Amino acid sequence: MLRDEIIKAIEESGFDEYREISSSDLIFDEAVFSSCAENKCGNYGRNYSCPPLSGDMEENKARFLKFEHGIIINKIVDYGEFYENYATAGKEVEKALDHLRKLLDDKPVLVAGAGGCRMCKECAAITGEPCRFPDKRRYSMEGSGMDIVKMSMKFNMTYNAGNNRLGFFMIVMY
Ligand code: SF4
Repeated sequence: MLRDEIIKAIEESGFDEYREISSSDLIFDEAVFSSCAENKCGNYGRNYSCPPLSGDMEENKARFLKFEHGIIINKIVDYGEFYENYATAGKEVEKALDHLRKLLDDKPVLVAGAGGCRMCKECAAITGEPCRFPDKRRYSMEGSGMDIVKMSMKFNMTYNAGNNRLGFFMIVMY
């Protein structure tokens, strides 16, 4: 059963929490896109999986709502008192997510992580070329307009774990 295979893969990839949800539980908010622009994120307009290049809210919603179920996953990492471990923490999350993607590679799922698509060393959007792998493009929760903080609260997941430890959220749709 697909659900069981996904959960096994999540457990094998070293995540700290997961919650099973319906796609109707996803929380999208235009304010998330505004915040990407206002915070001058380096991926804004420079990555095909991030706004505004990822499409409008309806396109982003449709990409996820075509699936019936989702499993939100969380990896809790130590950022350090002054964010000195930020890069190491990010690598730790990427490693777990890459492992999960590998295990689910042949499954009919959509895995969305954090940040823009990292398939290419440099996204083709930067130079205005077409996406090199449109069928394999990787989307993120935030870059798709999801309010991660509200969702973590709704499903009682750990956002701030204390002692400089924060949750990093991702999702598998199926
Ligand atoms: S596959 Fe490459 S070009 Fe396409 S969105 Fe990802 S990084 Fe950008």
